[in-house]
Amino acid sequence: MSELGKYAPLTYFQLMEVSLRELLVEKGVVSDAEVDAVATDMKTRGPERGAKVVARAWTDPAYKQRLLADGTAACEELGLDVPALRLVVVENTPEVHNVIVCTLCSCYPRMLLGLPPDWYKSREYRSRVVREPRAVLAEFGTAIPDEVAIRVHDSTADMRYLVLPLRPADTEDWSEQRLAGIVTRDSMIGVAPAKAA
Ligand code: FE
Repeated sequence: MSELGKYAPLTYFQLMEVSLRELLVEKGVVSDAEVDAVATDMKTRGPERGAKVVARAWTDPAYKQRLLADGTAACEELGLDVPALRLVVVENTPEVHNVIVCTLCSCYPRMLLGLPPDWYKSREYRSRVVREPRAVLAEFGTAIPDEVAIRVHDSTADMRYLVLPLRPADTEDWSEQRLAGIVTRDSMIGVAPAKAA
């Protein structure tokens, strides 16, 4: 019995991944070690990069303007690579609350937030957040007052969104680094506010 036969049969996409990877390694295009290093980086990456961007925007109004005008360029300014993607940063205000989704699959600003949570990829979130965002946000414990409009942004393969949450009150004298520590993944997806811990 072959090595693979000991395991459950591969799905179509798993088989495609294995075939392509083995071919690229065989042809010398990439090495196994390089593939492992990238996979480990993707799996262990958290939302720290996104938090850094938000904290800079909260403390530097000129940077915030550049970030809202061109998210990709503003991230590159901080040394963050946003490969071949258009990043659109949407700002929460007292009048407008933003939330992101990929209705088609699971497009997500991975380069800034790491891997998406399972609920983000679920059919339930993808279909319901566009139909009844207020109810979905309430289930996350985020009550949005009726007078605040909710905007839902649908990500695509080449366009990703990041929410710039409201800066919590009573953080005026906080350093940029301390602020970055309270910017959560969920606040940058838009399902939770940023809170002063
Ligand atoms: Fe997607």
